[in-house]
Amino acid sequence: PEMFAGGLDYHLDLSMAEYNWALTNTEEAARIMEFLDDNNFSSNSKDFANKALPILLNNGSVYFDSAYIPIATPDDNYSYQGPKELIPTTINLANGDVVNIEFGVTSSDGISANQKIATHLIEGLKFALNEANNNLNDTDKITDLYIMATTNGVHGPYSNHSNGTAIDISRINNVKMALSENVSQISELQNAFDNYEFIRENFGPYFKHKYSIENNTWNYNHPVGGHSDHIHISTRK
Ligand SMILES: [Zn+2]
Repeated sequence: PEMFAGGLDYHLDLSMAEYNWALTNTEEAARIMEFLDDNNFSSNSKDFANKALPILLNNGSVYFDSAYIPIATPDDNYSYQGPKELIPTTINLANGDVVNIEFGVTSSDGISANQKIATHLIEGLKFALNEANNNLNDTDKITDLYIMATTNGVHGPYSNHSNGTAIDISRINNVKMALSENVSQISELQNAFDNYEFIRENFGPYFKHKYSIENNTWNYNHPVGGHSDHIHISTRK
């Protein structure tokens, strides 16, 4: 146990509480070390591990294989009853680009993210991809998106995920967002989602914005944790 705790402390500069946790949770400590090793101890992998530790100390879940940390996104008591569809696996953009959509499986429930979601959320996804790719350089164009969660996975109470009006995007062009060096893909995608007329929550590594259609107000610093490894989008009409 001292070996893993000491090793993690060397790479991550653990707090006393984290060090003591690593001493008694050997298997998880070894898993973190494996994750760091798999990613050549990159600064992004260390950042992810440092964000994962407080979650693990609070008995939360961290998906090291997917570099994804599910975070509760409580909203109001809204219940969506409108039309739902499956997300298309290929999205053809107006400029001729094609974006492939892939789906993750959340290990908490073993369910794929390929589930029916609100039609206006799918429209928002198409809108944002069109706008983002129009603004991105040729070398940065988005060709692949990985959706880790729709209604699958464990989400807190009042989360829009349960309504089928929220998605978590965790990879762009097959690169896990937590480990990505491509800032412009993330920022252009989030900026584009902000411009969608039915956007509600737009939480990601670049910013955490929330628009409330009820009173036509923006919060440009929405107080929600996490989201440095995925973009959480919800829409409301
Ligand atoms: Zn989410």
